[in-house]
Amino acid sequence: MSAVRVDLVSCPVCAGTLEVPPDAQPGDPMECCGKRFILTYEYGSWALERPG
Ligand SMILES: [Zn+2]
Repeated sequence: MSAVRVDLVSCPVCAGTLEVPPDAQPGDPMECCGKRFILTYEYGSWALERPG
């Protein structure tokens, strides 16, 4: 039985939950709410930051 681990990240604007792609790296862009965010990884969890 193989467990597929899906990492999730919250959108800082709408508080929605997005799936982090398995091959995602910190610094990758992700889009939600029609806005673009930068993926970061800190303290064992993913987060989204607004660029700029
Ligand atoms: Zn959003």
